[in-house]
Amino acid sequence: AASIRLNSVSKSFGPDVHAVQDVSLTIEPGSLVTLLGPSGSGKTTILRSIAGFEDISSGEILIDGESIAATPTHRRQLGMVAQDYALFPHMTVRDNLAFGIRSSRRARRERSRLSSGQVAERVDRMLALVGLDGFQARRPQQLSGGQKQRVALARALVTDPRVLLLDEPFAALDKHLREQLQIEVRRIQQEVGITTVFVTHDQGEALSMSDHVAVLNRGRLEQYATPLEIYDEPATRFVAEFVGRINLLDGVVASGNAGRTDVVLADGSRIALEGGRETPAGERVQLSVRPERIRLTHASERHDDGLNTIMGVVKTVVYLGDRIDVTMNTIVGEIAANVPRDRSGDTEFADGDHVRIQFAYGAGTV
Ligand code: ADP
Ligand code: MG
Repeated sequence: AASIRLNSVSKSFGPDVHAVQDVSLTIEPGSLVTLLGPSGSGKTTILRSIAGFEDISSGEILIDGESIAATPTHRRQLGMVAQDYALFPHMTVRDNLAFGIRSSRRARRERSRLSSGQVAERVDRMLALVGLDGFQARRPQQLSGGQKQRVALARALVTDPRVLLLDEPFAALDKHLREQLQIEVRRIQQEVGITTVFVTHDQGEALSMSDHVAVLNRGRLEQYATPLEIYDEPATRFVAEFVGRINLLDGVVASGNAGRTDVVLADGSRIALEGGRETPAGERVQLSVRPERIRLTHASERHDDGLNTIMGVVKTVVYLGDRIDVTMNTIVGEIAANVPRDRSGDTEFADGDHVRIQFAYGAGTV
């Protein structure tokens, strides 16, 4: 499988639109990397630059260590899937895939050696891979949205490309189908072992599918890390807020020693953070904590210590199956918690309850 390297890549459209600004990242061979960001953050521009549909303004893109600046799109050996599938409507599924084989540059070189039987065999193998064995003679309008997307994927892979590029491939599908295809695409990607760049604005999709996630904001790379790191240790406020829900509380670092940072919140309560970023004492930070990392107990219950604790009053309670969302007013602002539902009813929460909010683990600073 191929590696991809972006070195300080920038792309502007005219003097004012800086679509991509100084983005550097390395994509390991055989891995799936997601470009995640809101609309207009530069995801598609990066993908199109890798594909060769855009010339970058500065920087360089390397595939397997070699600059691709002088290599035209059709010789980059890429497979691409767009949101709108771009299948040929008048052709059968078989012909859509066979067309891909015949039109690829490498195949053209090989064509004398590829019999129609071999083309058919390759088409069949790809359709089986995406779970569409037996659909060879159908036309695109006889397929569901999910099936069309599978055909588009099979067509992208049928030329045995070095790199697979997917631009919001599931955006037009409903939630259930989307989740099914996320699992499918990940399975296929791992089975084929192909280096893949996946574009989405859906944080859940990015976290569930990827080896690494590149979070983009206004053309800049905010963080490039594993899904767990992105979630547990967001590097910036933007990442913290864009990827999942999070509480951000103003504080000041009281002491920052190796492996432990104490943050004092506006009400004077002291929160001890294990690990994470080292921050010098006196620095203003925001304590960040995911709602599901909060421990909630009634203020009247006995407890061991006041560590990592602030008090609050319940404002709203929403039941979500086995968990509940609780928002609380506190002296440092509103805090959201997502806690397991206690079926015994011993620790039910209701509006107006006085509660102890504990940052048990997994809090950090941004
Ligand atoms: P995303 O895929 O993250 O939604 P894009 O890469 O499509 O973002 O766009 C990034 C920015 O570049 C946006 O501000 C967009 O309007 C602009 N842009 C993209 N393509 C063009 C173009 N061909 N001409 C002018 N501006 C463009
Ligand atoms: Mg886009």
